[in-house]
Amino acid sequence: MRQLASIQVIRDIKPIKDADNIEVVSILGWNVVSKKGEFSLGDKCVYFEVDSFLPIEERYEFLRGSSYRKNDFVGEGFRLKTIRLRGQLSQGLALPLQEFTEISEEVAIVGTEVTELLGIKKWELPEAQGSFGTIAGSFPAWVSKTDETRIQSVEAVLEELHGKPYYIATKLDGTSVSMGRWQGEFWVAGRNTKLKDDGLSTAWSFAHKKNLVISSIAWDKDYTIQGEFCGPGIQKNSLRLMEPEWYVFNVIDPEKNTRLPLDEMLEFCAHHGLTCVPVEERADSFEYPTVDSLLERAEGQYSSGKTKEGIVIRSTQPQYSETLRGDLSFKAINNRYLLKDEG
Ligand code: ATP
Ligand code: MN
Repeated sequence: MRQLASIQVIRDIKPIKDADNIEVVSILGWNVVSKKGEFSLGDKCVYFEVDSFLPIEERYEFLRGSSYRKNDFVGEGFRLKTIRLRGQLSQGLALPLQEFTEISEEVAIVGTEVTELLGIKKWELPEAQGSFGTIAGSFPAWVSKTDETRIQSVEAVLEELHGKPYYIATKLDGTSVSMGRWQGEFWVAGRNTKLKDDGLSTAWSFAHKKNLVISSIAWDKDYTIQGEFCGPGIQKNSLRLMEPEWYVFNVIDPEKNTRLPLDEMLEFCAHHGLTCVPVEERADSFEYPTVDSLLERAEGQYSSGKTKEGIVIRSTQPQYSETLRGDLSFKAINNRYLLKDEG
């Protein structure tokens, strides 16, 4: 689960040119516009990341004009997204800790998550419906759902990856599809559920087209393959594909419960006629020094000319990250993409 609200500290405060009533504060690697004088350097705050969906409560009412949203999927509330105010990028919301009397002193420690305590949900639109298929059951319990943490929240990973072999893949804007073999049976799942092979699922059709059901019989292990499914009708089809394509980013070795190293994943895909996510860059030593340098690196377009969602940065070999408490892999989202995303 993504940490949406947490106790954080104000690391920096800067004025905004030509703005009298607002200023920009730094929290983790994020810049957030706030009321002038609301914070002093070193103050604790409650920080809400973009994509937080805040409940209807008096203390958030100032957001109503800009942020009120309602849909059948998440109900009603206030949606936080990336905005630009007086030319300054603002991501998330910081409020003084004093406004939250329900947060006790024991909880008010920098880094503590308060997502659940404050009833914060993640803003989501219903999954792209249509031809995606019929639910066959819950998501396979032995598989981790795909997920990447934003670099602004985990700056310390730059240090962890520093000097190590790494690669940068394009982040594609489709929907997560996992497939694999388990106890002799081939399965296909969307982002949150297994799918039925009833002729209605484009992901299953794709698996058949690639002959995966048959070829998986010969696998030496029960692999899980995870990738981004893109094509007509999925999100905004920003790659402008005419036919669905599945871009693999994980092949999971069931014995080690980790992804295969980059070269083994590329080989696995080549062997099965599958396409990997585009590897834009790989080198022996990761040297990006700052969050900003990676955010800049994340900009650009797909070959279709559409704004790129961003990049995913990983160690070439799977590696445990203390900061992420999991695989060393994170994303940098293109801020230009976030500004365009109206949701
Ligand atoms: P959020 O960031 O809002 O929590 P999310 O779960 O939609 O939500 P994403 O921002 O989409 O997360 O980032 C993770 C997802 O990105 C993965 O689940 C995967 O489906 C997708 N993805 C696209 N391209 C890649 C890639 N090259 N490597 C890894 N994941 C990728
Ligand atoms: Mn996404």
